Amino acid sequence: MRDIELKYKSKLSEYLHASSDDVFLYWKGRVALYAILRAMGVGEGDEVIVPAFTCVVVPNAIKYLKAKPVYVDIDPKTYNVAVSQIESKISDKTKVLICQNTFGLSSNIEQLLEIAQRHHLYTIEDCTHGFGGTYHGKPNGSYCDAAFYSTQWNKPFSTGLGGFALVANRDLHKKIEQVNVSLEKTTLKDSISLSLLYFVREKILTDRRYWRMVKMYRWLSKYKFVQGSSSGVEIESTEMPSHYFKALSQTQMKKGLSNVEKIDTLLDLRKRNARIYNEYLESKGKTIVSPELFADHSFLKYPLLVRNREDVLRMAEENCVPLGEWFCSPIHPVMEHWDLWDFNGEDYPQAVKYAALLVNLPTDVAQTDSVLRFLDKILDWVE
Ligand SMILES: *Cc1c(COP(=O)(O)O)cnc(C)c1O
Repeated sequence: MRDIELKYKSKLSEYLHASSDDVFLYWKGRVALYAILRAMGVGEGDEVIVPAFTCVVVPNAIKYLKAKPVYVDIDPKTYNVAVSQIESKISDKTKVLICQNTFGLSSNIEQLLEIAQRHHLYTIEDCTHGFGGTYHGKPNGSYCDAAFYSTQWNKPFSTGLGGFALVANRDLHKKIEQVNVSLEKTTLKDSISLSLLYFVREKILTDRRYWRMVKMYRWLSKYKFVQGSSSGVEIESTEMPSHYFKALSQTQMKKGLSNVEKIDTLLDLRKRNARIYNEYLESKGKTIVSPELFADHSFLKYPLLVRNREDVLRMAEENCVPLGEWFCSPIHPVMEHWDLWDFNGEDYPQAVKYAALLVNLPTDVAQTDSVLRFLDKILDWVE
């Protein structure tokens, strides 16, 4: 193994209070999930329980293995699964329970683990929003059999695109190593487009240019000039895209090594800003994140509920506020043909309701003044 790979794995495992042999690196977070599912032996006819508030690449990884995603509605207090509804979804085909730390909030993990144990299910934590955060003092991702993380550019820390798995259940190590034998290597073209992505992200992307850049990035990735985070086929079908099962490149490892150092400062900043938003919204009688959740919430994004979302987004653009749109759909960002992913909106009323109302305030800004001024302007639309 190369020096840089060893260093990166050891750095990540330090944060996760794990051993560096438990860490496996991939081109994206979704690829890490796919590898974990394969290592768990998930295949045709198996069922995997997932929150009805996720990114479409999660059910995709399940569908690529001819297994079936079975969704559980969310508890709007935490945007994570409603624990009381899990057991009614378990059948004799269920093999895995996936939980998530939505927006950085981990919740109810002990209860989830207890249910999984009782039904002999594997557990996977989707920590794509939660790296660096903790649940009851233990790092996110260290409770379950395995966890996967994303280092895509707007996740907790960035390698442009990227991801990794933490496999705490050592019985799975041999299997995941066998699965990883078929990983494709990254190409020169991948490295060039990653470097372009870093350049744009670090040198050109400011709050002022945010919306223009988002539009340009979407356009460029649509026409394949840059590496988009999801290719068209991933949001239009359940076919596995070509060159999906790919390794992490050394360019990404280097980037990761330097960026992961900043995570503690970032976590403090995100929490500080979230408290400012909470105070402001509470003073206006609007919905806030329950203060008792703060200890286990790392606030990758701050959830804001609004009516007239399109108007709010337009106003954000006019006011140069980098507002996010996670999760604008229960299987983000897919807005139609949910049946392709075995999702029937009527069965998940909370997820559908909140997906229609959510936008996210940025938590990594140095100053919140301009965000608060923006909130003043849209206050009538805030729930
Ligand atoms: C971003 C995200 C993923 C996938 O991560 P990638 O690195 O982009 O593959 C999975 N689940 C959720 C909830 C996400 O937000």
